[in-house]
Amino acid sequence: MILVAAACVAAVGCAGCGTAAPPAFDGQMAFVVLREQCALGPRYPGSPGHAEIQRYLREKLAGYGATVSEQRFEVVLSTGDTLRLTNIIGAFRPDARTRILLGAHYDTRPRADREREPANRSKPILGANDGASGVAVLCEVARLLGASKPPVGVDIVFFDGEDYGEEGRSRDYLLGSRHCASRLAGARPSAVIVIDMVGERDARFQREGFSEAASAPLNARVFGIAEKLGVPNFAPGEGPSIIDDHLPFIQAGLPAIDIIDFEYPFWHTLDDTPDKCSSESLSAVGRVLVEFIWGER
Ligand SMILES: [Zn+2]
Repeated sequence: MILVAAACVAAVGCAGCGTAAPPAFDGQMAFVVLREQCALGPRYPGSPGHAEIQRYLREKLAGYGATVSEQRFEVVLSTGDTLRLTNIIGAFRPDARTRILLGAHYDTRPRADREREPANRSKPILGANDGASGVAVLCEVARLLGASKPPVGVDIVFFDGEDYGEEGRSRDYLLGSRHCASRLAGARPSAVIVIDMVGERDARFQREGFSEAASAPLNARVFGIAEKLGVPNFAPGEGPSIIDDHLPFIQAGLPAIDIIDFEYPFWHTLDDTPDKCSSESLSAVGRVLVEFIWGER
């Protein structure tokens, strides 16, 4: 993702009333999934870890009873290189007409271009927060979706190719989400929630700028849920605008938001490792998503 601009303050909305008792999100289980991803090593397109994480995610989703599918595609980058990419999708209640889409990128950055030491900038990052954290939360949500039938259809989408592009070449980012958003005909979700960089200890989330500009009611609903639950990681006000996997869905005319804490000192460095993350932060986001799915209708 790419930082665009800082922005100003917005008020917190209120949530609707719930009807069903949502299942309990287990932050410790999510943290295990974060660690397991990092144990596979860097997971950028073309790396051994990339193939392994694909297998891992397919097996996880299938094990939780999802209908698993893949979108395989190729992209020619502005550098002339061709990337072979794969989005992995787990559909719960695939026949339900009302659907929501929850997404996170599973690829990690192939170069630590924010390292101080120039010799380190060509090395791949582990992506504990930038990659594994969002996937970890959605794997735990998938476990709950398998155990407790949701009131709507839910598509968990693990995007490939979010973070491959070189700085300054913005068209080489968001490759998986762009592909996914262009293939939604006939199955348009009523809400799209992307999560990214949600695992840092003491993570703090404000309304991301593009989300607020395009999808304020959805943002208000999600942040209202956090307020109702008393999740302190969600703060009032508007944060920076970030180019991330929600943008292709906004451009497709869908209500789409990004939950992200961009204030992460280890962003795109070799220090983006599991010790910088916590199960509590994963839980904060997971609890809000669970309430969004089960408690808000
Ligand atoms: Zn990144």
